[in-house]
Amino acid sequence: MKKLIALILSTSSAVAYAAEPVQYDVSFNNAVHHEARISVTYSDIGDAPLQLRMSRSSPGRYAIHEFAKNVYQVWVVDGAGNPLTFTRPSPYQWDVAGHDGTVTATYTLYADRAGGTYSGIDLTHAHLNMPATFMWARGFDDLPINVSFSPVSEAWKVATQLVPTEDAYVFTAPNLQYFMDSPTELSNFSERSWDIESNDKTYTLRLAVHHDGIEEDVDVYLEKAKKVVDQQIQIFGELPDFDYGTYTFIADYLPYVSGDGMEHRNSTILASTQSLHQAEFQQLGTLSHEFVHAWNAERIRPHRLEPFNFEQANMSLNLWFVEGFTSYYGPLAIRRAGESSVKDFAELISNPINTVTYAPGRSFASSQGMSTQAPFVDAATSIDPTNFANTFISYYTYGAAIGLALDLTLRAEFAEITLDTLMRQVWETHGKTEVPYTTDDLRAALVQVTGKERFANDFFASYITGQELPDYKSLLANAGMLLRLANGGDASAGPVSFEFEGKAALITQNTIINSPLYAAGLDRGDQVLSIDRLNIHSADQWDNAIGRYSPGDTATIRFIQRGIERTAVLTFAEDNELEVVTYEAADMAVSKSQLAFRKSWLGVDSASED
Ligand SMILES: [Zn+2]
Repeated sequence: MKKLIALILSTSSAVAYAAEPVQYDVSFNNAVHHEARISVTYSDIGDAPLQLRMSRSSPGRYAIHEFAKNVYQVWVVDGAGNPLTFTRPSPYQWDVAGHDGTVTATYTLYADRAGGTYSGIDLTHAHLNMPATFMWARGFDDLPINVSFSPVSEAWKVATQLVPTEDAYVFTAPNLQYFMDSPTELSNFSERSWDIESNDKTYTLRLAVHHDGIEEDVDVYLEKAKKVVDQQIQIFGELPDFDYGTYTFIADYLPYVSGDGMEHRNSTILASTQSLHQAEFQQLGTLSHEFVHAWNAERIRPHRLEPFNFEQANMSLNLWFVEGFTSYYGPLAIRRAGESSVKDFAELISNPINTVTYAPGRSFASSQGMSTQAPFVDAATSIDPTNFANTFISYYTYGAAIGLALDLTLRAEFAEITLDTLMRQVWETHGKTEVPYTTDDLRAALVQVTGKERFANDFFASYITGQELPDYKSLLANAGMLLRLANGGDASAGPVSFEFEGKAALITQNTIINSPLYAAGLDRGDQVLSIDRLNIHSADQWDNAIGRYSPGDTATIRFIQRGIERTAVLTFAEDNELEVVTYEAADMAVSKSQLAFRKSWLGVDSASED
């Protein structure tokens, strides 16, 4: 309902008053203390009260973020410079009445977390995520926007998907949705670019890296990025038609940023506390993931996220596809580009397989159900504990596991049809056309590419709306890959994390349903004292104690719970962690057809080419 009212307001105000573009002016006189001074001006807006807002959410990050908390010293004037009073109907809103058709609001923003969702300002850069930074007025979503920056230093350049003008520090946006989607980095960054032809058009890809490394690092990274981008174009068949012909990777690789990656229509934020050299270019993983989003998220877009509502949390049923399938393709593109080995890739897919196989969360909700939990888990903060360790599986992990299963199933059961075929189909019907999709549209696309309604219905009923476990062992066998126990025969008390305070071994996370510790009645906050006659004062002592037992053995565990010393019988299970290895690595014979399957999938047929 709210959304509808906003829409009507915006149409009527734009038509009735033909208002001027919204003007933002940004300066950083107190950058050393992480402040910006920002003003926003609405002109020719008639006499209705102006409702100024700070966003409560940011595209691509699903929790509520109260960005208004970092806004202060708000000062409002009319077109003649006369001070105006405002009222506060909510913590996120400033209502201004009695103006002369022009309103300028000026405020101070505090910003000290440079990443995908927040802003960070200091003497080295102004890293601005727009919803965290800019106040906006309800009802003017369709007005064009001008923004003018006063940089701290003339050495500062600007990396952004905003539309450039003749002035290097002035940019425009066609409307509020685009402006909010356009994070902006001002700093003395290293810059590279390359051109790609696609559909008879030339697109420029820019790489802006704010870092403390050397220029040669950026050159090496650039070549890796080019290879990964080429592989992704092969998956989708073409580049997205980037607005304004340009896509910008905006990277901050500095110890004082907050590690992150965030997709946008024509750019991405890549942040890591490690330098390229220190991380041995592992930042390529996030780069690959975020560039897949240029197709899958930014244009192939789930219907509930479009248009984005900055006043509340935005929920989708399809994050298993948005984030999960993207998480599957990020490392796959890197493997096909030759920037990781088959062994690396096998290790990576072990993680989602282990999670969906064992995490109790799968009995609580489907991958669709997990998607609806995003507002509670994606950079969400709360002080009351949750049972997510038992009830939740990340839609990144769950979706990656489903993407893997679907790709292997299509390759095994259909000639010439792979997950790439499905992605291209969805790209044609929903990406290029930018018609937001529903879960049923994805099912229909699977019918379209396979020609088998029954197969598509069964797959969705089993793994998307259902909670079944794919048969990874037989699926991976098609590629001559073995799913096996990594530590078979070892005893385990189940997943547990300790914090050692002096000699006290405190359990810091919820114990996991069906695990030996859970069954013995231990939980978060308990202090483990001993197992049989072995005292537990360190992680080594814990591992050493467990190592003395075999699966099925029992021991007496002594612990303090809520101030009471207790004992329980701990029955050890077998360490059930799974690993994926090539048949060659397991000294098993691998057939020609398995190698051909592997080559078509991973771009290389022999583990010896690692
Ligand atoms: Zn993502």
